Amino acid sequence: MFYNHPHYSTNYYTAMILIFCAPSGSGKSTMVRHLLTHYPDTFELSISCTTRPPRGEEKDGREYYFISREEFEQKIRQGLFVEHEQVYEGLYYGTLRSEIDRIQAAGHIVIFDIDVKGGMNIKRIYGDAALAVFICPPSIEALRKRLENRGDTSAEMIEKRLAKASIEMQDAPLFDVKIINDDLARATTELDELIKTKVLNTKE
Ligand code: ADP
Ligand code: 5GP
Repeated sequence: MFYNHPHYSTNYYTAMILIFCAPSGSGKSTMVRHLLTHYPDTFELSISCTTRPPRGEEKDGREYYFISREEFEQKIRQGLFVEHEQVYEGLYYGTLRSEIDRIQAAGHIVIFDIDVKGGMNIKRIYGDAALAVFICPPSIEALRKRLENRGDTSAEMIEKRLAKASIEMQDAPLFDVKIINDDLARATTELDELIKTKVLNTKE
């Protein structure tokens, strides 16, 4: 798939959609934030709906659209989601079709920060137009330390996330690219290279 971008005459993009998946705590948000900061006119994050309550400084409409279970289920019935999952028992997360339309209408490449199942569903829909990247932690122990240090997740949720992480790691081979986030500086350099070669093709 080849996509000519209307606003950047010197650039053309080979992927219209970037999917980032990783077990919770792997550093996916950190790496996504890196891209959004360094390429503010190119990428835009798809904001998901969720029924989980906001954490820390999270704001409605910025990290997520925080909605009730009733609202979420109504949107499912209305067919407004491209994909949705109960990522954790009783907690819904989903991508609104209108979110993708909004970002693409602004001439931006959509970044998805979603769970593995959701990521694979998006990849199935968009095929070669999407680049699916799996961010791996160096180990489950490292993951535990990062979640504990982040300090915004309860001990019970950390255990749930670690159990889920071991299963999710088995899906890494399904992705187009795998980046091991051992050292953050090294991993972001690898990501930048990937973006230059596989997503942006800058003609000087
Ligand atoms: P995710 O979005 O995958 O849940 P985060 O980006 O929130 O993960 O990262 C989890 C925690 O680990 C954060 O506190 C972050 O600052 C830290 N972190 C991210 N990458 C690294 C790394 N390579 N080494 C050590 N800590 C890291
Ligand atoms: P958190 O509660 O830590 O923000 O996110 C929990 C998990 O839900 C993460 O793996 C995150 O990527 C995933 N997630 C966030 N939004 C969506 C979404 O719209 N769809 C799916 N399938 N997963 C999502």
